[in-house]
Amino acid sequence: MKPKIAVFSLTSCEGCSLAILELEDELLDILGAVEIVNFREAMTERSWDIDIGFVDGAVSTPHDVEEIQEIRNHCKAVVAIGACSCQGGVNTLKNYRPEEDYRAYVYGEGAKHFPTLKAQPISAYVKVDYELPGCPMVKEEFLALVKAVLSGQKFELPATPVCVECKKKGNLCLYEKGIICLGPVTRAGCAAICPTFGSKCEGCRGIVGEEALQAAGVNLREQYDIPLDTVLADLRLFGAYQEETLP
Ligand code: SF4
Ligand code: SF4
Ligand code: SF4
Repeated sequence: MKPKIAVFSLTSCEGCSLAILELEDELLDILGAVEIVNFREAMTERSWDIDIGFVDGAVSTPHDVEEIQEIRNHCKAVVAIGACSCQGGVNTLKNYRPEEDYRAYVYGEGAKHFPTLKAQPISAYVKVDYELPGCPMVKEEFLALVKAVLSGQKFELPATPVCVECKKKGNLCLYEKGIICLGPVTRAGCAAICPTFGSKCEGCRGIVGEEALQAAGVNLREQYDIPLDTVLADLRLFGAYQEETLP
């Protein structure tokens, strides 16, 4: 019996679900090993007999709450894919605005027909078995997770900050140009793609851990006289929920 997998989207741009469809050659190999039973972007059939449910998007409406609870009840394992699902992602920007402001901005006079909630990651509501962070998630990590689960092996995300990958590429650190970058506190795994192309890391893969936070706090102050709080203020784009839960 092939494992049955499903892909769901809550509040999001659904870019992480689309990233699965973009796997092309690799997707054919995966389809040989699993049965996709529920994937709104790709098929019309729906089944709720599911081994692994992949979920992109944050919980941001009462309907999202019902949906994530139903998904959890029907999936043996739940995998959060992408920053929205793992950390709340860009959806959490609304948490900093008065509710009546953003509802009126988005829905105008029809706002009363669209109930909303503070945006949160799915782990705020249900148990999550694995997380694949990033905006969008990293396709290679998706493939590695599927292979690990199918072969009964352990799957782990990198436990080092983006700076490690950035240094290996020989990039000039953006702090040397006076630009604040979240690489020292953000989980590696994206090949430091943003600083490699000249942009600062915005933290889309989430905070790597307490040790990295402490090390970054010391290093940034010693080398650049920048307090960690100033750096973490930039987390708001992708990690406002994380910002709330920082030690
Ligand atoms: S993490 Fe990014 S790409 Fe994925 S669903 Fe959210 S906004 Fe879209
Ligand atoms: S540019 Fe950013 S990711 Fe690269 S070494 Fe500097 S702080 Fe780290
Ligand atoms: S460099 Fe930072 S913002 Fe860019 S993809 Fe990697 S974790 Fe995300």
